[in-house]
Amino acid sequence: MSQHINILEMARRQLADAAQYLDLDRGLHQVLATPIRTLIVRFPVVMDNGEVQVFEGYRVQHNASRGPTKGGIRYHPDVDVEETSALAMWMTWKCAVANIPFGGAKGSVKVDTKLLSKRELEKMTRRYVTEINTMLGERSDIPAPDIGTNAQVMAWIMDTISMQVGHTVPGVVTGKPIELGGSEGRVEATGRGVVVTMEEAAKTIGLNLNGAKVVVQGFGNVGATAAKLAEEAGATIVGISDAIGGIYNPKGLPVHELFNRYQGRDGGVREYKDAQAVSNSELLELPCDVLVPAAIAAQITGDNADRIRAKLIVEGANGPCTPDADHILSDKGTLVVPDILANAGGVVVSYFEWVQDLQNFFWEENEVNSKLTRIMRSSYASVESAMKVHKTDMRTAALIIGVKRVADATIKRGIFP
Ligand code: GLU
Repeated sequence: MSQHINILEMARRQLADAAQYLDLDRGLHQVLATPIRTLIVRFPVVMDNGEVQVFEGYRVQHNASRGPTKGGIRYHPDVDVEETSALAMWMTWKCAVANIPFGGAKGSVKVDTKLLSKRELEKMTRRYVTEINTMLGERSDIPAPDIGTNAQVMAWIMDTISMQVGHTVPGVVTGKPIELGGSEGRVEATGRGVVVTMEEAAKTIGLNLNGAKVVVQGFGNVGATAAKLAEEAGATIVGISDAIGGIYNPKGLPVHELFNRYQGRDGGVREYKDAQAVSNSELLELPCDVLVPAAIAAQITGDNADRIRAKLIVEGANGPCTPDADHILSDKGTLVVPDILANAGGVVVSYFEWVQDLQNFFWEENEVNSKLTRIMRSSYASVESAMKVHKTDMRTAALIIGVKRVADATIKRGIFP
């Protein structure tokens, strides 16, 4: 997805960094560096004009030692099997850091959804899910939304699988509409978790979030929700962007108004005139206290990390900082709250949704939100203390915890046969 950075190499380098602290033996390291199952599918869809178009998609299960594999489905023109494998690996560590009983997986289809009609999107989704159906199941592998997918796509996935087995199976996918067994609070969960970790990290570095200046890259579900909730927590959002570009006003931007007018429409925020237009790369270098990269991977790299002015980076996206950037930021004393901790709120509430579906017993939103906040805070506290014990940056500390939990599960289960 990013131009020159190999995301899978990046994920493997991070694992190797953490492995040094864990004394992992070579065989176990190899088990953890490799996905357990990878499926590449190519399938036809009859488009609205009657022509057949062939799409390519993937589903990768990285590790299932701690439970069924879990992870979103991404629709984006630049996905490939390597990136999907890296994202699956990150899901394994993320679920382990949050201590929820899932392994990691990811799926994707190479497609620009802006070029499809709603009917074409539905047909493509139903056919993709049929192609990867042998991997999915409420006890084996449970998808969720990611970039380019949403609750409606999850509803089609649930319906497709339910039609194939002959009865409704809500627990096979999360992030569904509430009326189909979705959970209260799921849509906002990732952004809410980002802001909970931002509040905890602000305490770590002695920053008062009240009045702190925050820049958010990305105005999709994660970025827009994080911006709204950070503003509610007292911060001033001074910069925001979508896929087309961003805007900056050091006095603050009216996030709620921007959300109501432009959320979900690329290029929208640029229409707001009481601000200076900036490119997505300029946005990252704006003066601010907190930066939330909540778009795509490899945005902060060895090339621009030394120009980042924020004291705190909270990773709403998966993989926004490369290992080269991590070293530069750590040397500068910038605290980076890593993706596998900061954006775990989505999969945590996916876990709650799955539990509710299996029990057919649904919770109120405040119960979901307070359980989510509790898990985010305690995960943050464990990672912060591992950081002190091992004297590492926060990403390595989170990986030490996540990788160790998965390694322990693998050792305790033993290797079959
Ligand atoms: N796609 C989200 C992530 O990257 C959520 C995954 C899930 O809920 O299974 O964490």
